[in-house]
Amino acid sequence: MTAPARLLGLRVQGVKSFAERTLVEFGPGISAVVGPNGSGKSNLADALRWALGEQGRSLRIRRSEDVIWAGSEKRSALGMADVTLVLDNADALLPVEFAVVELGRRLYRSGENDYLLNRQRVRLRDLQDLLDSANLADNAFLFIGQGMVDQALALRPEERRPLFEEVAGAGGEPVSQRAMPGSDAADAPPTS
Ligand code: ATP
Repeated sequence: MTAPARLLGLRVQGVKSFAERTLVEFGPGISAVVGPNGSGKSNLADALRWALGEQGRSLRIRRSEDVIWAGSEKRSALGMADVTLVLDNADALLPVEFAVVELGRRLYRSGENDYLLNRQRVRLRDLQDLLDSANLADNAFLFIGQGMVDQALALRPEERRPLFEEVAGAGGEPVSQRAMPGSDAADAPPTS
C-alpha cells in the first residue's frame, strides 16, 4: 500500500511576515503551529492557499502585492514573494509522474506571477486543472478556518450533507438538483 498524499513541507521567502527564507517541515499526523498573536501563524496558511493559486479572496490582503514582504525598520522591502509547497504524491493523488510534487508560486512587484510544477513553469490554468483532478481546487473546505468547526457543528443534518460531499469530492451540482424523490436530499433547502 502506498502512503496517502500529504503535505511534507512549505518553503517561503519574502511572503507576508516571512522575509527570510523559511522551511516548515510537517511530520506524519497532525501538526500544530504555535505562537503569540501576530507572529505569522495565519500567514503560513495564507502562503499555502496562495501556492494553490488563490487570487485574494481569503488572503487578507487589499492588493496582490500585499503578499510580498513590505519591509520593517530593520529590513527593507523585498521585490518578490516565493512559496513552494512540497507534497508526498506516492499515491498519485495528483495525476503526474512525480512521487514528490513541488508546487511553487512567485509574485514580483511588477505584478508578474510564476507558477511552477517541480520547478518547471506552468500556466495558472494547468495548475488549476491539476488541482481540480484531486479536488484541491475551489474546495471551500480545504482550509477549515477559525470558527468554521463551530459553524459545522451547528448545522442541521441536511445542511451538513453538502459539506461532507464537497470534502469528499462527491459534490458538483447543488443538492436540490441532485435530490431524488423520496431521498433525504429531496427535503433539503436549496443551497446558495
Ligand atoms: P493571530 O493569532 O493574531 O491571528 P497570527 O500569528 O496568525 O496572529 P498573522 O495574521 O499570520 O499572525 O500575521 C500578522 C503579521 O503579519 C502582522 O504583524 C503583519 O504586519 C504581518 N504582515 C502581513 N503582511 C505583511 C507583509 N506584506 N509584509 C510584512 N509583514 C506583513
